Amino acid sequence: MTVHLLEMEIQEYALDKIHCRKDIADHIAVCEACRMKAANYELMFSVIKEEPKHSFDFDLASLVVEQLPKPSSVSSSTNILLYVFIFCFAGAIAFVIYWFREYLEKMFKGILPIVIYLMLVIAISVLIFQCVEIYRRYKKQMKSLNSF
Ligand SMILES: [Zn+2]
Repeated sequence: MTVHLLEMEIQEYALDKIHCRKDIADHIAVCEACRMKAANYELMFSVIKEEPKHSFDFDLASLVVEQLPKPSSVSSSTNILLYVFIFCFAGAIAFVIYWFREYLEKMFKGILPIVIYLMLVIAISVLIFQCVEIYRRYKKQMKSLNSF
């Protein structure tokens, strides 16, 4: 007849497989019943370990955000690249307009300042939109974290 492990010994194994007694690990390796019990305890302990996440402070939250799946940050960096491209494009147009201002001035007398202001407005709105987008995404991540 097989002598099974005590509950305490199984818990010991579930808490720390690597540093638990060798005879416990040896028994777990050959005994299906004790291995199942150990797995149950492991699951239980992992749930208990998760618990503090419900009451995390800001630093912990940002730490978890870093560990979140990457797809959203990839798309955000793609968006930023797009904004940078739009910004550079708008800047290039503004520069061309400024460079040929005398020529353009003759063509569109009085319109030029409006065009420059328009470019500025577009550039500033793109920047503001970008900031709002980043803030919105951050808040969304915070919200999904809090709903755990
Ligand atoms: Zn056993």
